Formats: sequence, C-alpha cells, structure tokens
Amino acid sequence: MNDPDCIFCKIISGRIPSTKLYEDADVLAFMDIGPIVKGHALVVPKAHYDPLSQTPDDVLAKVIAVVRRIAQAQQEGLGADGVNIHQANGAVAGQVVPHLHFHVVPRFKHDGHHWNWTPHPYADLSEAAALADRIKAALSR
Ligand code: 5GP
Ligand code: ZN
Repeated sequence: MNDPDCIFCKIISGRIPSTKLYEDADVLAFMDIGPIVKGHALVVPKAHYDPLSQTPDDVLAKVIAVVRRIAQAQQEGLGADGVNIHQANGAVAGQVVPHLHFHVVPRFKHDGHHWNWTPHPYADLSEAAALADRIKAALSR
C-alpha cells in the first residue's frame, strides 16, 4: 500500500534519498531532515497508514518496537540523557506529512530544546469528569 504523492512513501521506495537507520519488511527508521535536536529520527510503517486511529494494531506493534530500539540506540550510541517520542495527527496537531510517523528525539542536558507545554487547568473536577465521560462513552462504542 503506497501513495504516489506521499513524501514518506517516496522515501520508503527510494525515489527520495534518506539517511536510513534501520529497516525490515514492515518498518523504516531514518534521520529527520529538520531535527529539533541533532540525532532526531523518524519511524514509519512501510505501508501508507494515517492517522494513528486508522492504523491496525499489528502494524503499530511493529512500529513501536522499532521506536523503542531507536530510542535505546540514541542513548547508547549518541550518549543521549533522555528521549522524547512525539506523534501528530492532523494539521491542527502540527502534522505536516500525512503518513503515520513517530518522532524519536534524543535529549541532552543543555540541548536548549523546550516544549511549549503550558497547562490549562480545569475550572473544577466536574469539568474533567464530564470530558472523561465523553471519552469513555466513545471507548465503549
Ligand atoms: P510532522 O510535522 O508531520 O509530525 O513531521 C514531519 C517531519 O518530516 C518533520 O520533522 C520534517 O523535518 C520531516 N521531513 C519532511 N520532509 C522530509 C524529507 O524529505 N526527508 C526527511 N528525512 N525528513 C523530512
Ligand atoms: Zn505514505
């Protein structure tokens, strides 16, 4: 399954060059061309799936296993002190390339990167509970 207009499908098929880290029959890991921290990698299924919610569990299991291996290799190979995993769904979430991908970002003391993570507290516990009820209702459908 391949989308001829998808930039990651082009990378997977070799039509666009990339710096590969790992590949097997189902999964490719390669260096992100615009790293937020140097060593930043992307892990993708070779088949074109998007978004996360439409991706089969068995594909996800294979992809996340490679995410874990890349994170471990960044720590062992680059001396990273930690790793962030990031995965965006939809333009509103900052997704640019609509082919499922996990960002694996090595983190170093004093790497200068900061997530813009500002808490927006609930007015009270009932506001959180009402949202939880809607999520749980969707889970049970
Ligand atoms: P998104 O914003 O969709 O979560 O992330 C897309 C990522 O793909 C970005 O971090 C961007 O730097 C990376 N990217 C886009 N085009 C290319 C490319 O041609 N080659 C590589 N290696 N990475 C790319
Ligand atoms: Zn694709």
